Amino acid sequence: MSNIAASIITIGDELLIGQTIDTNSAWIAKQLNQQGIDLRRRVAVGDEWQPIINALDDELKEAQLVIITGGLGPTADDITKPLLLHYFGGAMRTDARVLEHVKGIFAKRNRPMLERNLKQAEVPDTCTVLFNRLGTAPGMWFEREGKIVISLPGVPFEMVAIMEDEVLPRLLDRFESDAIIHHTIVTVGEGESFIAEKIQSIEESLPSHIKLAYLPGAGMVKLRLTGKGSDEAALNELIVGYKNKIAEMLKDIVIAMSDMPLERVLFEQFMLKGKSLGLAESCTGGYIAHHLTQVPGSSAYFKGGIVCYQTSIKENVLGVSTDTIMMSGEVSEATAIELAKGAMKVLDVDCALSVTGLLGPATDEDKEPVGTVWMATASMDKVVSRKFVFHYDRIRNKEMAVSMGMLMIYKYISDVN
Ligand code: ATP
Ligand code: MG
Repeated sequence: MSNIAASIITIGDELLIGQTIDTNSAWIAKQLNQQGIDLRRRVAVGDEWQPIINALDDELKEAQLVIITGGLGPTADDITKPLLLHYFGGAMRTDARVLEHVKGIFAKRNRPMLERNLKQAEVPDTCTVLFNRLGTAPGMWFEREGKIVISLPGVPFEMVAIMEDEVLPRLLDRFESDAIIHHTIVTVGEGESFIAEKIQSIEESLPSHIKLAYLPGAGMVKLRLTGKGSDEAALNELIVGYKNKIAEMLKDIVIAMSDMPLERVLFEQFMLKGKSLGLAESCTGGYIAHHLTQVPGSSAYFKGGIVCYQTSIKENVLGVSTDTIMMSGEVSEATAIELAKGAMKVLDVDCALSVTGLLGPATDEDKEPVGTVWMATASMDKVVSRKFVFHYDRIRNKEMAVSMGMLMIYKYISDVN
């Protein structure tokens, strides 16, 4: 059976007032998608009886699978369990395995167990229990007239554990669905319209079961090809064919042929070319170093960085001259270049990137406008400097500076033979 339709219902007042961001739906959606199950709708409702019943009624009209999260806790606002008992009928029973587990959790934490905690082991006798190894509230699997309703706790890591342990394997057994294959190309330096123009002919020639999505990010655009079909190998071959054609047309801006973050691309390039890297970060405060070090093993090429936030560090540690700072200012091309050259020397690296800017919100009267960031890369044979002006708030400006900084590093390393 293929093309089963699914819905997700998330329960909780906190979701409706914006206190909690619904990450559960996004995670579940991704998993269903990978299994070839079509998610048709996501619905959020408060902790109220009738709205939850209505949501179930509505979703079950079209969906064969409804996954609910939230409202399984021991407090009075958690009404999902009695509601499902009412909805599917039957009586409450105590599940021996869950009871044992709940008692174990309280014993381990050395906390007194209340009547309401014991109730966590009660489940409607009309459901299959989905064991929750990380928490006290079990998940529940109900079926009626060929349709499945699954109830999971709202706590994200508990929900994930039950999905992985209990739900996904059962779904895979039950539904033999079409394969869904994704392939991603990562590009930098051009916008989506430019790319769309360039690959128009290929895009128009794509068969209807292969879709192309543009996913723009800071300074980069990811292109994702998605295909659906029953013959997984043939489908994969077809998509890879289109992917290679697209990459060929965009060869100047493609930096990766799979979905990977920029820091991963940098890691691979530096390892391949055997160069070392250092940083002098002022306005990004070490945030670029943080990104680079997300990749295990990055110490093999990234030697370190200096957060040169105050003028004195720029001068005393990295050797920027007082004259340069007086004449050109801290946020200037001249300072960026001296910072990069200084970092290259002090950190003893093949290449250093410097970042100095004014991120706001405070303005600096007679200096550059808020959002101005100067960067430079320095290596033995070349110095490259570039000015950016970002127009967002402080935090987003900082994130943009990080992306652009990593792109400056990419430019350096991709030019190395
Ligand atoms: P508990 O046994 O902890 O009470 P529960 O099943 O009753 O679990 P909720 O009370 O709805 O779950 O939520 C528990 C926690 O999980 C809360 O901190 C809530 O913010 C978070 N949470 C609930 N729903 C979601 C969701 N859809 N996405 C992300 N977090 C969520
Ligand atoms: Mg709760």
